[in-house]
Amino acid sequence: MNPTTWSLVVHGGSGVIDRADLKSEQDRAYRAALRAAAEAGAAVLKAGATAVDAVEATVRVLEDDPLFNAGRGAVYTAEGRAELDAAIMDGASLAAGAVAGSTRTRNPVSLARAVMEHSDHVLLGGQGADAFAASRSLAQVDPAYFFVGRRWRALEKHLAREGLPIPPRPPGARPDEALASLAHDEGKRGTVGCVARDAAGHVAAATSTGGTTGKRWGRVGDSPLIGAGTYASDRGAAISGTGEGEYFIRLGVAREICALVELKGFRLQAAVDQVIQTELTALGGQGGVIAVAPDGQMAWSFNTSGMYRARIADGRALEVAIYKDES
Ligand code: ASP
Repeated sequence: MNPTTWSLVVHGGSGVIDRADLKSEQDRAYRAALRAAAEAGAAVLKAGATAVDAVEATVRVLEDDPLFNAGRGAVYTAEGRAELDAAIMDGASLAAGAVAGSTRTRNPVSLARAVMEHSDHVLLGGQGADAFAASRSLAQVDPAYFFVGRRWRALEKHLAREGLPIPPRPPGARPDEALASLAHDEGKRGTVGCVARDAAGHVAAATSTGGTTGKRWGRVGDSPLIGAGTYASDRGAAISGTGEGEYFIRLGVAREICALVELKGFRLQAAVDQVIQTELTALGGQGGVIAVAPDGQMAWSFNTSGMYRARIADGRALEVAIYKDES
């Protein structure tokens, strides 16, 4: 493979996403959003920037888009709060940064990057993470910024089913019905992520999520846990996951895929299929991953009915897909 090429894969979450359930305008809206995100990352790579720059830029686009469960549009905890998790990892140096339960930082992926580059730590949690973000002059927002009406209705339904009290809406939250009509309810989860390989042959991964609807007690998923939902090493691959975090954590999904490539010589597609179709499925978990290798191989695998996804590489047209029966 030409060593100067770059490649990038993006996901917008996995779950119950059936062709029959999406109206054509919803289908179009998701494809347009994935296209915009992938093109933003591709532009960064074309300009010769690093894989870390590309995955951050791509994930920021999806965090700002209320269709996805990350940043604006995130799901709610049982207490009615958006608690955001994110991680980023640089495969060249194995540097990593992550944040769990941030509530005020507009782009959690950029906070994760600040943790990686400007702190002595890998993972910061809750209020401390937001305080660190503010100290780095990262944009802070009122929690009402993250509010999207359909996520609130999903929370109300979830709490009613669980027999739990419904908390008051975040003060200042404005229902956004125009967006609600385009969004598809793919279950109580969702996440966004990106992996990239830059022209210098380095890989990086980033993941960002609101976690699961109605999560309680400070629950943290796999996304911000290095090795579970996010991992990158130039010796193996860069991986970003989406799915039932509790299963991804127990399997160490992202590091497991990297290890199959690095230590067992698996091709990338075989490695992602082994961990998702065989190991995750056998454990009873649902979800998917995207991956790139330092030689430019791209792969994805999921055991749900759909995963919002796109990939693009130097000299290769953008591919956008949602359902299982697409490429
Ligand atoms: N993996 C995320 C979590 O468990 C949710 C998802 O990707 O759907 O927090």
